Amino acid sequence: MSSILDSDIKYLPGVGPKRAELLNKELGISTFRDLLYNFPFRYVDRSRFYSIREIDSSMAYIQLRGRITRIDKVGQGRSQRLVARFSDGTGSIDLVFFKGLKWIEEKLQVGPEYVVFGKPATFNRSWNLVHPEIDLATEERLSQLGVMMGVYSSTEKLHNAGITNKFFEKMVGTLLERVLGSIEETLPAWIREEKHLAPLVFSLQNIHFPGSIQDLSRSQRRLKFEELFYLQLSLLRQKSIRMRADSGVVFRRIGDYFNKTYEALPFPLTGAQKRVLKEIRADVASGKQMNRLLQGDVGSGKTLVAVLAAMMALDNGYQACVMAPTEVLANQHYQSMQKFLAPSGARVALLTGSTKAKERELIHAGLLDGSVQIIVGTHALIEDTVQFRHLALAVIDEQHRFGVEQRSKLWSKSAVAPHVLVMTATPIPRTLAMTLYGDLDVSVLDELPPGRKPVETVHWTETRRGDLHNFMRQQIALGRQVFVVYPLIKESEKMDYKNLEEGYLHITEAFPAPQYKTAVVHGQQKTENKAFDMDLFARGKADILVATSVIEVGVDVPNASVMVIESAERFGLSQLHQLRGRVGRGAEKSYCILMTGYKLSNESKQRIELMCATSDGFELAEADLRMRGPGDFEGTRQSGLAFDLHIADLAKDSPALVEVRSLGERILADDPLLEHIENRLLAEQLRTLRLDTTVKDYSKIS
Ligand code: ADP
Ligand code: MG
Repeated sequence: MSSILDSDIKYLPGVGPKRAELLNKELGISTFRDLLYNFPFRYVDRSRFYSIREIDSSMAYIQLRGRITRIDKVGQGRSQRLVARFSDGTGSIDLVFFKGLKWIEEKLQVGPEYVVFGKPATFNRSWNLVHPEIDLATEERLSQLGVMMGVYSSTEKLHNAGITNKFFEKMVGTLLERVLGSIEETLPAWIREEKHLAPLVFSLQNIHFPGSIQDLSRSQRRLKFEELFYLQLSLLRQKSIRMRADSGVVFRRIGDYFNKTYEALPFPLTGAQKRVLKEIRADVASGKQMNRLLQGDVGSGKTLVAVLAAMMALDNGYQACVMAPTEVLANQHYQSMQKFLAPSGARVALLTGSTKAKERELIHAGLLDGSVQIIVGTHALIEDTVQFRHLALAVIDEQHRFGVEQRSKLWSKSAVAPHVLVMTATPIPRTLAMTLYGDLDVSVLDELPPGRKPVETVHWTETRRGDLHNFMRQQIALGRQVFVVYPLIKESEKMDYKNLEEGYLHITEAFPAPQYKTAVVHGQQKTENKAFDMDLFARGKADILVATSVIEVGVDVPNASVMVIESAERFGLSQLHQLRGRVGRGAEKSYCILMTGYKLSNESKQRIELMCATSDGFELAEADLRMRGPGDFEGTRQSGLAFDLHIADLAKDSPALVEVRSLGERILADDPLLEHIENRLLAEQLRTLRLDTTVKDYSKIS
């Protein structure tokens, strides 16, 4: 059933095709519904005016009231800008405009009182507001300022195209006017009554334009509940279908492949590895399809667990595949698996986007006739052209980048859905993980191989760059290798690459060839160059690897003993922890140096301090969840979920999670497939939210 909410966003008055394209690219907003459900990620108290004297670096947005004392045009050509000196009696600040100068020049005057709203930043040691909202402080305008104003996620590109917060407000206002009348309630009345939830229309209106703080919190509660509820319902339904279907491939025996591999291992398995392998063994022998999440801190030895699980498949005449999120990682898996696989003679191949056409054909043929037993690769593996003879185990590494939909694509590759083992290094507190991945069973590798020394972590500011270089020289002289990592965040990709390039230049100046060799790896390189430099470092032929954060996850270079993280304040805790896990893998003492500027917000300070104080991934993950606000754009992306949450916050909303889970269980106990007439709304809603994909695929299979 299509509704007005499915309309293309370009048809919303004031948007048009160009802005629509940007909204889609930057925020994934392509329909009216997407915009409607793109909630503010924060609210600002607009009833309050700050004084300029009060401004400090922890303020995200401020509202000021004052007068312009002078207006200057500065600079030439493209860097030309308009600077208005703004004063409120307690101090002054510069309002800076780079775009639409003519229009702004006409609008601004010295003298009258204005209301100014924007994000404070420092430039040349004084405060300024770049492209603030500015309005005459008329009675009318002052009365329009609501209590709470929503702040929407944005990006530099959107901002540059004039899609500011004000523009968002306008768009959403127009949208609400058009659609509120035709929005139908999405939760059955009995659930709303039982759980005391506000109606949908009220909630959508107030989440964007809160009438009061109470209305806002009622709306948030309702929308969070709904979001978590449908997610749980879909996960639970998948699980109940899976448990009912008698459709797991049975691995009856343990044979030569497993035993030869096991006997040739250069070290004993850790207790945790043994336990997890037993759990997997029980699953694959049970006659039900395995769907297991393997959580293990970096370095806990997940790869080996995957290899041994694959051997169980091979011993029973089946094939296995291992999917990694990037080519670098797929390569690395392939390399490190080969050394384990050699003793058993298992035949393994690598398939990625850059596999040559000829080789690709051979691999395709090998997979079809069964001569390729294990295939390692990237997304290339789920393409329709890849067909297996007997795929019975799929291992997915770093699963947060594979959605539910992609998982289900794998399932369609064999007559019976293969067993699935999802591996992740993002430690999620166990109870939360169970609730979150409602359809998965969870195993935890909570023990590191013996002999690992904790990585000594320190925080240095820019003033110690000289010390940093000396320390790097020292370590390199001892024969060790060094990672230098730069942040890469979608919002400012261009600037980040500039930082990386400059950093690379500095490094090559401080560590000149031929005495030192520096490799560089980032996402804008050609694949061959990337692989070449990565390989150089992995084989110990480069002393330093300069890289962006997207590239690094999972690379294993035991000889690297120093991890330098530039602009460390811009990373989340989990990510810092992941990066740190790249060192401390060999016998040598290892170091992680967090470089930041001198001035840090309180939250950044806390994060950095915590990193220096603990090496416990779970503790860090919990702190990370706690510190991140709901709907944090980057945060959601990195939180290890295969789906996006618009509003619910996994750290703060776990009581709601428990509540929706038991509600879901109650409903499904009576009606496992949601076929009863009174549950029609629920089934329909799962379809609208596209939360039923996997289920459809299952029904095709069984
Ligand atoms: P991760 O869980 O981060 O993927 P890996 O599988 O890459 O960890 O393992 C990290 C390193 O530890 C690898 O070099 C691997 O060979 C080694 N390793 C795995 N299991 C053990 C073990 N039981 N004892 C000693 N070293 C091990
Ligand atoms: Mg790994």
